[in-house]
Amino acid sequence: MKTFDVLIIGAGSAGSVLAARLSENPDLKIGLIEAGEQPTDPDIAIPQKWPSLQDRPYDWAYRTVPQAGTAGRVHPWPRGRIVGGSSCLHAMAHVRGHAADFAAWAEATGDARWSYEGLLPAFRRSESFSGGESAVHGGSGPLTVYLPDEELSPVVRAYMAAGLARGVPAIGDHNAGPLNGVAPNSLTIRNGRRVSAADAYLMPILGRPNLELLTGVRVHRLILNGDRVTGVLAEIDGQPQQLFAERICLCAGAIASPLLLMRSGIGPAEELKAAGIACLADRKEVGGNLHDHLLTAGNVYRARREVPPSRLQHSESLMYLNAEDPTRPDGPPDVVLGCVAAPSVSEGFAAPAYGSAYTILSGVTHPTSRGRLTVTGPDLEAPPRIDPAYLSTEHDRRLARRALELAREIGHGEALSDWKETEIFPGIDVRSEAEIDDFLARAVITHHHPVGTCRMGKDAESVVDAGLKLRGFEGLYVVDASVIPSITSGPVHAAILAIAETFAAGFADKT
Ligand SMILES: Cc1cc2nc3c(=O)[nH]c(=O)nc-3n(C[C@H](O)[C@H](O)[C@H](O)COP(=O)(O)OP(=O)(O)OC[C@H]3O[C@@H](n4cnc5c(N)ncnc54)[C@H](O)[C@@H]3O)c2cc1C
Repeated sequence: MKTFDVLIIGAGSAGSVLAARLSENPDLKIGLIEAGEQPTDPDIAIPQKWPSLQDRPYDWAYRTVPQAGTAGRVHPWPRGRIVGGSSCLHAMAHVRGHAADFAAWAEATGDARWSYEGLLPAFRRSESFSGGESAVHGGSGPLTVYLPDEELSPVVRAYMAAGLARGVPAIGDHNAGPLNGVAPNSLTIRNGRRVSAADAYLMPILGRPNLELLTGVRVHRLILNGDRVTGVLAEIDGQPQQLFAERICLCAGAIASPLLLMRSGIGPAEELKAAGIACLADRKEVGGNLHDHLLTAGNVYRARREVPPSRLQHSESLMYLNAEDPTRPDGPPDVVLGCVAAPSVSEGFAAPAYGSAYTILSGVTHPTSRGRLTVTGPDLEAPPRIDPAYLSTEHDRRLARRALELAREIGHGEALSDWKETEIFPGIDVRSEAEIDDFLARAVITHHHPVGTCRMGKDAESVVDAGLKLRGFEGLYVVDASVIPSITSGPVHAAILAIAETFAAGFADKT
């Protein structure tokens, strides 16, 4: 039987941060449990390879249920099962979000720590920005944040110029203040190689004597003594084993964290009963509030000449816009465009040959569709029922149409005329609202940002409180993408690291 002061479940993005920061205190004995193993696949480090990593053995390879809003399609949801978690699979774009995104978190929790000003020290502490240290950027944190310049694809440069010609503001980088505008993507890439959260935070400190990393260990459920969580039941070398700790940090991500709570009997009573799980606490919101960004893949153009392969990670520049007036510099944005130096389509379309086409992606920054994650059985093997309820609100459908319209406007801009031969998708004849809606339903794909399933809040229904403690229980904290109450404007990784950094900074006060 092993005992620790702190047990961290999941060595993914947030778990890597916590393990590194909490083990800075030599008096704390830290255990870090990960279902996956250390990365061995050399492709993980190569930024251009990221889209091909999905469905490999270190992907949990979840699937949504058929989505009414997307022509009944089932959407693959990759998640990393590996040391580094989803940061080993992700697309490496580093976007903090708009200050208003975090104002909503501070409002939801009644806690200024989750405002942009409250999180800024954590954003700075986490990064080594290639542009150097400043009031907004960190210069000596664990995570490399690289703002590329000369490696940018010439097609992406032309798309950025088309945005500027349309009056879209130039913002330099996405993390320096204003978000509305166009900039190259800041990337977690160093010397041409991916930097996962584990590369940044965990690998350099694995030798600390007070930290034990257990890989290939799957946690089945929590062990409780009354209202105190005292340990976990895990499977080690095929055998069930108990591990105990004073405090447990659940960092298993937006899918696995609520599932683990539900397998432990903490969740909606009716759903637990249907799954054959004894209910300890009827907590309706566990697994609720599931939401994600969608991207329309895509507005594809046949090129007049060969498109050179991306020297980065294909999707090199995001453009955040006010949907009504894309020239408006003040945010928050409500739509986003992105340029991919390659054809990018959903499984419903035949992609043109690589090198022959490029894509403008489009999406909605603050979707209002909310779905649910449901446990289907007491065992780890029971696949979750994942229903993000994509495009289930008029708000999301209207803005998805508008985002595609803006993509086409930029795509047909003069600055891209050297590259554009013709629009392949949706195709120049696709114009009516019904035709556009049909295209969107078949073309949207996940932007890979599921959040919200253990949301933090000040209300009694929220799953965790402003200190990320599981409501109604002692000794358990949830620290990962699941606590995000409402999604940020952009990719969520930077915000997840900042959540973990902020939690770790206040850890000494937690009991
Ligand atoms: C393909 C893809 C592209 C993406 N692109 C971007 C991007 O460009 N920019 C961006 O900001 N974000 C991106 N994201 C999202 C981002 O990577 C994730 O939101 C983030 O990594 C989630 O962090 P987390 O700590 O919540 O969970 P994870 O990093 O997923 O970590 C959870 C860990 O817990 C482990 N675990 C789960 N269950 C158990 C169990 N029962 N027992 C033991 N261990 C367990 C998992 O194996 C995993 O290692 C992308 C994600 C994917 C998949």
